[in-house]
Amino acid sequence: MTATATTVRLTAIDRCDRCGARARVLATLPSGGELLFCQHHANEYTAKLTELEANVAVAAEGE
Ligand SMILES: [Zn+2]
Repeated sequence: MTATATTVRLTAIDRCDRCGARARVLATLPSGGELLFCQHHANEYTAKLTELEANVAVAAEGE
């Protein structure tokens, strides 16, 4: 498993599915479902997302 992070373009209208803060991470599940997380909740759910074999993309900085 590589440590290379995928980046994605997220905007101010992309909100965390858990708390409504601006999303910083987009997780795509093998089923095709997509989940948005802020940095706080991305950290909280990293282990779970890895377990689900989700593809995790981090918002590019400065956008
Ligand atoms: Zn959140």
